[in-house]
Amino acid sequence: MPTDAKPPLAILLCSPRGFCAGVDRAIQIVELALKKFGAPVYVRHEIVHNRYVVDGLKAKGAVFVEELDEIPDTGQPVVFSAHGVAKAVPEAARLKNLFHLDATCPLVTKVHREAEIHYRKGREIVLIGHAGHPEVVGTMGQLPEGAITLIETEADARAFQPKAPEKLAYITQTTLSVDDTAAIVAILSERFPAMTAPHKEDICYATTNRQEAVKRIASDIDAMIVIGAPNSSNSQRLREVATRAGCAVSLLVQRASDLDWRRLAGLRRVGITAGASAPEVLVEEVIDAFAARYAVTVEVVTAAEEAVVFNLPKALRETA
Ligand code: SF4
Repeated sequence: MPTDAKPPLAILLCSPRGFCAGVDRAIQIVELALKKFGAPVYVRHEIVHNRYVVDGLKAKGAVFVEELDEIPDTGQPVVFSAHGVAKAVPEAARLKNLFHLDATCPLVTKVHREAEIHYRKGREIVLIGHAGHPEVVGTMGQLPEGAITLIETEADARAFQPKAPEKLAYITQTTLSVDDTAAIVAILSERFPAMTAPHKEDICYATTNRQEAVKRIASDIDAMIVIGAPNSSNSQRLREVATRAGCAVSLLVQRASDLDWRRLAGLRRVGITAGASAPEVLVEEVIDAFAARYAVTVEVVTAAEEAVVFNLPKALRETA
């Protein structure tokens, strides 16, 4: 046997992983806007939480801004990110005579509409989510200040004192931990049995399926690698889900150069997945990095099949 033979490593590759339909649509919107209107196309906030994607779009002529004030007087479009925006943002764009394209994921828009309906019906609304996340800022900004109370933890759910317990409704961020959210909802439902729930789960199919795939393998691997950005909620949840399901080492990396090989020494079985905003090219890069050190075999573990596709905005359909 040659002395430099690589040790064997089984890679369990989660499926589904990576891009969801909402992220795919948001990136397409920026690319098609560049094709139709030429550069620059302005994008308010990171279109999706992934540096590789953002840098790729910058190279094609997208200009990322935090606020609309940074955009000069221009006929060029501005795209709103997949996370959604507060009502005040399109209104500000209109006042500035900016032409905007909305890349808000339709499943986030669904939550916005639920909030509006509850408000119209005079219900007190609880949003389960993470303070400061752009999606939470956008959802809370659908209604006047104070109309929605944010609940982040089980402790918040226990301490919450509604003004109108008999007219309570809850909505959630789309990218939460399925299990944590169920625990928070259980506390609220026990305290407020009349609370109205979403007709259809607010945590989206992509979040649910990616977490399910991680759970299937977490207790059967030495380490879990989640490819995604530190500010990506669904990626952070995947890392937590692996830890809670019994995986001793669960790491979130943006790409192969982030892999900490000291922590990954002596592995025999490793799981790999990617958050909903991480492109497949980064998964391939990570597998290649393992293959440079180990004799790898790759087994795909499938938790669900996905065939979701969302329509593009009307203004871009012909260009597509
Ligand atoms: S993670 Fe879910 S809600 Fe977010 S963009 Fe993807 S499909 Fe839409």
